[in-house]
Amino acid sequence: MILPKTNRLTTEQLAEVTAIVMEFGCKIQPIVGAVRTIYAIVGDEREELMINRLEGLAYIDRIDRIQSPFKLMDKRSDLATHRIKLGGVTLGDELLVIAGACTIDPKNPNYFYETAAAVKEAGAQALRGGVWKPRTNPYTFQGDTKSLDILMEASRRTGLPVDTEVMEEAHIPLALDAGVHTLQVGARNALNYSLLRAIGRAIAERDACVLLKRSIHMGPINEFISAAEYIAAFGNPNIILCPRGTAPTLDGYRNHPDESITPLLKEKTWAPVVVDPSHSVGKASYVPAAALAAVAYGADGLCIEAHVSPNHGIGDDPKQALTPDVLAKTIKQAKQIWALRRG
Ligand code: PEP
Ligand code: MN
Repeated sequence: MILPKTNRLTTEQLAEVTAIVMEFGCKIQPIVGAVRTIYAIVGDEREELMINRLEGLAYIDRIDRIQSPFKLMDKRSDLATHRIKLGGVTLGDELLVIAGACTIDPKNPNYFYETAAAVKEAGAQALRGGVWKPRTNPYTFQGDTKSLDILMEASRRTGLPVDTEVMEEAHIPLALDAGVHTLQVGARNALNYSLLRAIGRAIAERDACVLLKRSIHMGPINEFISAAEYIAAFGNPNIILCPRGTAPTLDGYRNHPDESITPLLKEKTWAPVVVDPSHSVGKASYVPAAALAAVAYGADGLCIEAHVSPNHGIGDDPKQALTPDVLAKTIKQAKQIWALRRG
């Protein structure tokens, strides 16, 4: 990792640095942070002569050689000062709540519009809504591209930025061109490295953000952070980690609640953690407790399924979605725990 003395290298300096690393079979990938750009050396960066030549340049502050499988996402990375903003919230400064329907029903858009207004009223700063849905049963509703218009209309009406899951590469330009701010990578795709790369490439030049769910098949914590690194490696480090319950299922819950991994993540990575209690426990009556536990464990935010009339919802909404009043109470209590934690 090359750290320049100034906020970024000039075109001439970048050309000089690139020429040096290319002699050693490496490439340069700029990583654009809010204040400063750093430059990853892609390839084998152990070559002593290459490092010496780079360190000898007057405009280079230092070369960081972080021996970590996730150089960019590592807490020791120069990106540790990078801050992600969503819905007017700088993550880490204030509790972020993303809320909304599991699945947008394209036949009944008013439910989503009403839900969007209600979650804003309840205190959420960003809106979620599933356009394309990963369903275990191939005969159930799989989502509909038409719902993208409903999602964006709800965003216009409320002024809230929106989050939606992209399940395949073709969804990425559709979502970004429509104005989706946060691309969600679902638990099923969190280990789909070609999708992660495609997302990284697509958001490299934008200020979009990624909500990366934890796969139920991810073992060690490093596997989760490394998946984020796949995206960050293309230059946009706006990545939020989202524990959402894991396997094996805790009898009675949909998954095994995993908000308790938050402190472990925080020890290894600077990335903000936004916990999804809805898919973790899988039942509306259990969601508030899991949400509050997540904040107690140090989460920077929550991603919660909510619906004005869960019974009329589709996908997970009938069983998992909070009604607006329960959401409002949960957000209020979560903020109290946030304040207690800050002490
Ligand atoms: C969802 O957010 O509705 C969803 C399908 O989540 P996950 O990928 O965590 O199962
Ligand atoms: Mn869902």
